Amino acid sequence: MRVTLPTARLAFANDGIPLSPDFNDLYHSVDGGLAQARAVFLAGNRVAERWRGRDSFTILETGFGLGINFLAAWDALRADPNRPRRLHFISVEKHPFTRDDLKRALAPFEEVAPLAGALVMNWPPPVAGFHRIHFDAGQVILTLLLGDATEALAQLEAKVDAFFLDGFSPAKNPGVWSPEVVRELARLAAPGATLATWTVAGGVRAALTGAGFTCEKREGFGHKRAMMVGQWREPAVSAPTPDRRALVLGAGVAGIACAERLASRGWEVALVDAREQPHPLAVGAVRPVANLRDATNAKVSRSAFLYALQHYGGMQLDGHHLQWQACGALQLAGDDDEAARQSAIVHSQEHAAEFLAYVDREAAAEIAGRDVARGGWYFPSSAWVSLRSLATASLARAGSRVHVFRGDRVERIVREGNAWRALGASGSSIAEAPVLILANAHDAQRLAPEARLALNRVRGQVTYLPPSPSRSLERIVSGNGYIAPLPDGGHVVGATFQHDDFDETVRAADHGQNLARAESMLPGFTQGVEPSGLEGWTGFRTTVPDRLPIFGACVAPGLYVATGLGSRGLLWAPLGAELLVSRIESEPSPLPRDLAGAISPARFLS
Ligand SMILES: Cc1cc2nc3c(=O)[nH]c(=O)nc-3n(C[C@H](O)[C@H](O)[C@H](O)COP(=O)(O)OP(=O)(O)OC[C@H]3O[C@@H](n4cnc5c(N)ncnc54)[C@H](O)[C@@H]3O)c2cc1C
Repeated sequence: MRVTLPTARLAFANDGIPLSPDFNDLYHSVDGGLAQARAVFLAGNRVAERWRGRDSFTILETGFGLGINFLAAWDALRADPNRPRRLHFISVEKHPFTRDDLKRALAPFEEVAPLAGALVMNWPPPVAGFHRIHFDAGQVILTLLLGDATEALAQLEAKVDAFFLDGFSPAKNPGVWSPEVVRELARLAAPGATLATWTVAGGVRAALTGAGFTCEKREGFGHKRAMMVGQWREPAVSAPTPDRRALVLGAGVAGIACAERLASRGWEVALVDAREQPHPLAVGAVRPVANLRDATNAKVSRSAFLYALQHYGGMQLDGHHLQWQACGALQLAGDDDEAARQSAIVHSQEHAAEFLAYVDREAAAEIAGRDVARGGWYFPSSAWVSLRSLATASLARAGSRVHVFRGDRVERIVREGNAWRALGASGSSIAEAPVLILANAHDAQRLAPEARLALNRVRGQVTYLPPSPSRSLERIVSGNGYIAPLPDGGHVVGATFQHDDFDETVRAADHGQNLARAESMLPGFTQGVEPSGLEGWTGFRTTVPDRLPIFGACVAPGLYVATGLGSRGLLWAPLGAELLVSRIESEPSPLPRDLAGAISPARFLS
């Protein structure tokens, strides 16, 4: 049960072309990788002619390798004034390179150096699963399926316009050309889909023809005499342009993420919230979940975590002032048994050290820069994020397409014709749109009772510690609650977890509990601090019994929910919102089918 894939070994043939010693095959044509990509895959699929004027165009490639076909497609998109608004490039890869090897192998491709540099910078760790990466402000969306082609493609939900069949040769890597893979390609083909490949192997052609593609030989590229192109049996249809207006109810972490993702796809959004001010929690931690059986919440959390880091980093790169830092987080064991379990999980699941490592007490103390109670897990890229700056930065990134209505409590929602309308206390209309996303935390249950969402409210209080020279700590330390750095040099300590308690005030007794938590993890950290007079914040988590968030289509047309984020809103919101918006736009899903199903509201109806 390993969550990390073995990485590819990189070697070079005598002529300098990257070579796989494991498959004894070259990574690209001896006549030039980019030239082959353009002649075989882009021209073979008539990509420039077919993507012209489209909102979105989807390419699926078998075998990412160095990503040369991806870079060629991206380069072509940049150069084309008639490009589609978005290019989805999906690629499956069982043996990804390490970042360093990818950088080394791509170094000779000077013509696309800036694109290659961006790819290397955003290259994910070799964690099995789907990885979605945005480039050029979301105009180019790469979905990397890291894992076995047959299994990964069976989990993919997409409508593909062009297939780039570019695995190692069928003789050397038959798995990626198997009848099972071809069956999945047929399932994924959009009306009018085409394919291109450099191989004319009889078995491949027979499988493609049998699955419904009409194939023909063409003149090959470089020293190859022939290549093959194919056409899916269903002809292209032109889809009507949807009315891209949405109403997002709730401007918390989930609602703002949904509004921002919708705006990135050109939607006009009315974002409505009863609260006058953005989220008051100063800073929250972003950490993935790990557990013994590598349960569904752990699997979804890995994709969500890597996506969240990219999302927050991208926001900062785009010049929006997001206060956040991937400072690393320790999750200390509570006792020796838990420490043994944590160590066993890391080793049995073979986590990549860049993602999760087990560290003993001494190493943990070195990471924390002070004495710690025990060893535990270390997530080197875990982050803290300021929620207030996240709201501001997300809305700035979304721009004028998101219209915020604050101080408006929605009492009822009604469906009128093809639109949803949000009504206030007096029955007055607040906003209407064909698509409604309920991102109003626990209150989603009241507005959509027929969805039977199983939501609970759990009170929590955090304590803010002012800056002090005796409390230097630059990492997040968690285990029994958490301690995270604040942008002003102070720290946040949290959090209490109280069922059936709806008191909204900040209580000194709860500060006492939080200080005790901090002491149990970092002895001496709160020495001399008295609970009275400390500042803090009280809020309510919306929790779900299965500890998974809820993102997906609801029971009625045009109705979606984004709630149940529990104690991990900053982890779930970016990917959850991207999933929801991909669904709404009928774009490729960023999550495997089983994991998307696990977080769908449909699970409450079965
Ligand atoms: C003490 C504490 C500490 C936490 N620490 C962390 C942490 O370290 N890391 C982390 O990731 N998460 C943390 N969380 C959890 C995090 O705060 C939540 O997961 C997150 O806020 C959920 O976001 P949301 O958008 O679903 O809900 P909310 O943030 O609650 O937003 C829902 C919004 O909907 C609005 N709304 C509701 N009903 C209506 C209505 N009828 N009409 C109009 N508006 C409405 C509300 O006003 C609200 O603004 C913590 C939570 C607590 C309580």
